[in-house]
Amino acid sequence: MVLEIHLDDVVQMRKPHPCGGDEWVVTRVGADIGIRCLTCGRRVMLPRSRFEKRVKRVVGRLSPAGRDGKA
Ligand SMILES: [Zn+2]
Repeated sequence: MVLEIHLDDVVQMRKPHPCGGDEWVVTRVGADIGIRCLTCGRRVMLPRSRFEKRVKRVVGRLSPAGRDGKA
């Protein structure tokens, strides 16, 4: 199964973040995937292979206005 991932996609992870949130927005796509926790704003970079293992599903897409502003 190939995961299609795009900038600004909101994804749900299998394991919740310690802050309690399980939804992240994709902030960078490449060899590494950058994601930001929608609950606490923490940014994380993961190799694509590890990201694909951790992600549960794509929930939706963030509007461009919500990008990089407030967490
Ligand atoms: Zn968090």
